[in-house]
Amino acid sequence: MSEAKIRLYVDQALSAGQPVAVGADQANYLFNVMRLAVGGQVVLFNGRDSEWRAVVTQAGKRAGVLICVEALRPLVLPCDLWLVFAPIRKVRTDFIVEKAVELGVSRIVPVQTRHTNAERIRQDRLQAHAVEAAEQCGATFVPEVADLVGLDRLLADWPAGRHLMWCDEAMAGPAAPLAGPQGPWAILIGPEGGFSTDEQARLRGMPGVQPVSLGPRILRADTAAVAALVLWQAALGDWR
Ligand code: SAH
Repeated sequence: MSEAKIRLYVDQALSAGQPVAVGADQANYLFNVMRLAVGGQVVLFNGRDSEWRAVVTQAGKRAGVLICVEALRPLVLPCDLWLVFAPIRKVRTDFIVEKAVELGVSRIVPVQTRHTNAERIRQDRLQAHAVEAAEQCGATFVPEVADLVGLDRLLADWPAGRHLMWCDEAMAGPAAPLAGPQGPWAILIGPEGGFSTDEQARLRGMPGVQPVSLGPRILRADTAAVAALVLWQAALGDWR
């Protein structure tokens, strides 16, 4: 791998000549795993500023310093699209977060529904997955992974004007092309057990909710998340 291809997410502000200190984990990755030395190059981004080419000026075992040299690309925000999903088993939840970042979302919201199998999530771990996915796919923005929230609560506080593409397994069958207004959207994916009757009734009664089919077969939640993101991006998002 060529040195300048290493992309690293950092918290610090980035600007010309700005020194960026890296801690133990990143030092290990850069200087041990990737064998970068003083003079080596890295691409840095922080989700707020432009992406920068940086040069290693100190490479220690447990710390190091990089200096920002040249702005490469401006920050590019994804469309204002939330992915709301009921977490499933660990690896599949990790998969959903990773694919959501690659396909383009602005926020990831794990939601607890009546039939959700997960009581808790490791928000910090999921956020780290989002960072890794952004590093890998060239995104300059990292979506926030929210804490687990109850579906009732989320719908009670639902922001006015945010449209909801509700992936409703009861609609399974021919899928009409997705259409709708521009503006803020969210995609809702249910758990393996599907939505409860109460939840279905509530969603049906909400303004701005569009029940959609993802085709004739019942998809697993992780497949459904990817399929829904593709449909949305192609019809209303930044794939057009
Ligand atoms: N156990 C449920 C299926 C849950 S699938 C049942 O048998 O009905 C998990 C989630 O994926 C669903 O809640 C829904 O959001 C989405 N999903 C899966 N297949 C779908 C389809 N064909 N159309 C719309 N949504 C689907």
